Amino acid sequence: MASARRTCRALLPALLVAALPAIASGPLTTPEETAATLASLHPDYGDYIAQVRFGDRRAKPPGIDAGLVRPGGGDPRDPEEGPLMGRGQRNDLIIYADTFAPEASAAWRRLLPDHEYFHARHLARGFDIPAVSFGEAQADRDYCEALAWGWVLRRAVEGIYGTLSARERAEVEDLYSRHFEGFHRFVMRRQPAAWAHYGRFLPPPGIMSAEPVAARAPSPEADRALR
Ligand SMILES: [Zn+2]
Repeated sequence: MASARRTCRALLPALLVAALPAIASGPLTTPEETAATLASLHPDYGDYIAQVRFGDRRAKPPGIDAGLVRPGGGDPRDPEEGPLMGRGQRNDLIIYADTFAPEASAAWRRLLPDHEYFHARHLARGFDIPAVSFGEAQADRDYCEALAWGWVLRRAVEGIYGTLSARERAEVEDLYSRHFEGFHRFVMRRQPAAWAHYGRFLPPPGIMSAEPVAARAPSPEADRALR
């Protein structure tokens, strides 16, 4: 499993985000707050995340909001400090004082830790979802990120986090779509028959983005159409 471990070290740290304004004073989030959020979403989060800590630096590095590291690690970008894979493996979650923009919704502040929870549990083989390497870093990254963004997109549609802003919702949909498309292209190029297996875990983005039927309020037009 060495290759798989190497893969997930490389692909897991980065959460892509738009540039955010620098904070003026005081942390906008803390490890304690993030841990409380995780606990509220998943009472079992400690089975997969050993600690939530600030990183080696106060402000987040370019290109990431948060990321997993192996126990005791400090920099999610450093391959030597990346998270470990294996059944029962626990990793640490690094956040930064400015992980969340001041305008981030309460829903986004729940979604982002949940995204990392998915990665941590996936690495620990806590889901019935393959944790594998495909021998190409970008394919591995697309696979794991599509799974993790798909997880939070589905839960966002279910309303678990509350209401995302339109921009936040679009960002999640875009990230899922991009990683889905990247991985789908890879499978079609390498071994199309394999999509029958992996596609089970990655629904088409259009389906993922649709609101659940139960959540839709019936409109008068729809009612008339039924008659
Ligand atoms: Zn991720």
